[in-house]
Amino acid sequence: MSPARATRPRKRLWRDVSERALDRCGRTLGRAVRSAFVPLAVILACSHFASSATGAEERPNFVVIFADDLGYGDLGVYGSERIRTPHLDKMAAEGMRFTDFYAAAPFCSPSRAAILTGRYPVRAGVPYVLFPTESTGLPQAEITVAELLSEAGYATAAIGKWHLGWPKPFRAHRHGFDFFFGLPYSNDMLKWEPVEIRRAQHAFWELPLMEDDTVVEAPVNQHTLTKRYTERAVSFIRENRDRPFFLYFPHTFPHNPQYASEEFEGRSPHGLYSDTVEEVDWSVGVLLDTLGELGLDEQTLVVFTSDNGPTRGGTRWGKRSSGGTAGGLRGRKGNTYEGGMRVPAIFRWQGKIGAGTLARDATSILDLMPTFAELSGEEMPRDRVIDGRSIADLLLGKAELAEAPFFYYFGVQLQAVRVGRWKLHIRRTELPPHSASLWYLQNDDLFTRHHRLQPEPELYDLDADRGETQNAAADHPDVVERLDTLARQFDHDLQRDKRPQVFLDSP
Ligand code: MG
Repeated sequence: MSPARATRPRKRLWRDVSERALDRCGRTLGRAVRSAFVPLAVILACSHFASSATGAEERPNFVVIFADDLGYGDLGVYGSERIRTPHLDKMAAEGMRFTDFYAAAPFCSPSRAAILTGRYPVRAGVPYVLFPTESTGLPQAEITVAELLSEAGYATAAIGKWHLGWPKPFRAHRHGFDFFFGLPYSNDMLKWEPVEIRRAQHAFWELPLMEDDTVVEAPVNQHTLTKRYTERAVSFIRENRDRPFFLYFPHTFPHNPQYASEEFEGRSPHGLYSDTVEEVDWSVGVLLDTLGELGLDEQTLVVFTSDNGPTRGGTRWGKRSSGGTAGGLRGRKGNTYEGGMRVPAIFRWQGKIGAGTLARDATSILDLMPTFAELSGEEMPRDRVIDGRSIADLLLGKAELAEAPFFYYFGVQLQAVRVGRWKLHIRRTELPPHSASLWYLQNDDLFTRHHRLQPEPELYDLDADRGETQNAAADHPDVVERLDTLARQFDHDLQRDKRPQVFLDSP
């Protein structure tokens, strides 16, 4: 555990903590507490006692490994014949693999807001990619899964790429993580050269490796990132082997520009993209081996997934990179076709999740926080809309999952909805309000391209046509109408419930 753990600035979930404590201590004591203003310590002690009574030893650890821009078709167990991923393939053989699992955005920052809050990114106040010179990030008013678990007594760590705001109030250790080690944003947000006006969304400083607010190295040697992340993750697991822990491990790669360590770079005949994925796979193996060595396999739910679909290869920022594959899905990172948002997902919890099981349910990263809350015996925040749902019963083989809609947002714009086998790209005849994102302030044409209009709806039967090649709208007008009505009502409600982006006066 970080020695500075006790002194971390932490947003207190006062209302949630006190409510939980009062529930657990009973209404009589609750009234006494309210009337007598018993010190916070008493309330927390009750909460702690109640947590202990539920059996702290029964609460699982959670490890979330979050690849960056990994395509649906880029793991062996998802059909890749060019990238070798023996550890992830083995993890799938020991756990549950999802065929229809989604990121909640087709690009980085919003997807990270969603995985940590259980809320669609636009609802959580992070609709677009964040750049280091911007003064916005994940609002403090959002409650993250790290805060929830930290208040419940878990040790928490974020190791890897944060990308939910560079200014200090938005950083990981102010969102419930005991410590952060990694990159504060994407590895392509390099030092800005003044002559390159169109790259002004980059930083004025070298790309830093950070430990909380301290710069460890700048510019960071990106070849070393996956190894150094892995070493810190192993240390965190070892240090917290005797207490519940939550490790959030968002890798930097295979995001462009790609770098691997000496052992991996050039190892694959298929280029740098493959090299980085194979090193991420190695890292997964190291973590799983560590859990096994410590006897934590049956106490730890490990999740592996990706923040969005694969990017294209090419030369960017003077460096040649190779791209991934969406495994036969249409589209890729940056759009709401399946290839942009459907991602690999593997859940492993030995003795709890059936080995080699397959789930075809439409599920998403929004579901992680509610699932972890249920499995740890905690309650989700009750003062806000949570878009995800617990899939604990599905994981544990207790019950099938009821069908639920999934909404595909690009920034603030709802572009598609899925219910069961049907996916509708809704008709869009007007662009949404222009965003304050630097992305668009510097690239006006990009806003129009991203928030593309859709003159006519497109309907796809994903069971029969997961590549979204045959528009079935004309043959199923009833389905089009049903999904269109559902989508517009949902978006109407969400747009009135979304948290405004928070901008600081100065970064
Ligand atoms: Mg990404």
